[in-house]
Amino acid sequence: MSSSRRDFLKSAIALPAVSALPKMSERRAETIRDSSFDPWVEISPSNLRHNAGEISRRVEGRPILAVIKNNGYGLGVVNAAKTLEALSSIHGFAVVKLHEAISLRDAGIRKPILLMGPFDDRDLGEAVSRDIMPMVYTPIGRTLSRIASSRQKSVPIHVCVDTGIGRVGVPYRDSPPLIRNLASAREVQVRGTMMTFTEDEEFDREQLRRFRSICSDLEAEGIRLGRKHAASSFGLFQRSDAFLDMVRPGMALYGIYSEAQFRSMQILDLKPAVALKARVAYVKKLKAGESAGYNRAYVAKKDIWLATLPVGHADGLPRAAANRARVRIGPMMYPIIASVSASHCIVEIGDEPAVQIGEVATVFDAENDSRPEDFGASCSTSVYDLTMHLNALLPRRVVA
Ligand SMILES: *Cc1c(COP(=O)(O)O)cnc(C)c1O
Repeated sequence: MSSSRRDFLKSAIALPAVSALPKMSERRAETIRDSSFDPWVEISPSNLRHNAGEISRRVEGRPILAVIKNNGYGLGVVNAAKTLEALSSIHGFAVVKLHEAISLRDAGIRKPILLMGPFDDRDLGEAVSRDIMPMVYTPIGRTLSRIASSRQKSVPIHVCVDTGIGRVGVPYRDSPPLIRNLASAREVQVRGTMMTFTEDEEFDREQLRRFRSICSDLEAEGIRLGRKHAASSFGLFQRSDAFLDMVRPGMALYGIYSEAQFRSMQILDLKPAVALKARVAYVKKLKAGESAGYNRAYVAKKDIWLATLPVGHADGLPRAAANRARVRIGPMMYPIIASVSASHCIVEIGDEPAVQIGEVATVFDAENDSRPEDFGASCSTSVYDLTMHLNALLPRRVVA
């Protein structure tokens, strides 16, 4: 079972690195060098490093627990982790799915890994054997002790307190006895205590007050809570009072502003570390009155050149991109027209055949106006949907 899950992930791991985007004069040469027409996801380690540096500056050197869930926000868990692990600002990684934690260990990642998702007893045994810390919020102290003694090692955990998000975590009122109980379990070490904000400005303040009050009461009793952490990307911008002992961002590390208003706040200079690209598969002329796409979604008003890109909604290009979003080919932006089908989209080029088969088309990248935030906004799609819905099977190319 678990080996097939791992094989699945490995196929989504980095292909050999290709060079960065060529200059315009080299565009034709690149077409020849790499003839694959499969769309691909490009990952920029230098932008990842830049973003981690920005976050570290913002949080004044507090450690960063890098959230790398859901295929590393589209980058691929291993691609993201390999670059981030080398940075001293990165304390470790937080994932939601056990198979992602395991694939990180399989890939040789050695820093702490927190499993924020659910597990059963058997999963827990495997997690502990592989030094994956569970996030705990139920009374499983005895199970943890039993696993610790059978593995002959102590079990580090993070305790999750629900201060009002109502998703996972022990309800804050019930948390002191649970934490006392877990902290006193044999061979169990509480390495961290965490909460998640609802990201409602006013209620966040109340959530933080609840968390602080529980933590300080328990600490006054001499209970060690480990590193306390709460702030996601949102918190990096909005809640400097919640940086606590460690921060827990995802999207900001990948260089994307999770809220449009953060972009102009000059708090963090983020550079997108993920791009979606494809090659022009076909260029053709429609005569006035001819159509393109299912249901004749587009009808040419005049003679016009179109280009077909082999990237569609099955790859993660939102359907809503049709008639709203644009892609860049060479120096120009062209509108996506007709409708987005599973593996194709069509762009309108104009009166001249200004693009060639094999040229690179950029759906989104780190350039201004074609950032993931811009592409997402033009489709009215959240950047979380845009990056996390990138098909895990698309090749990932790690560029310079
Ligand atoms: C996803 C997640 C984060 C990171 O959120 P971003 O908005 O991507 O920074 C932090 N904490 C928890 C519990 C999460 O699920």
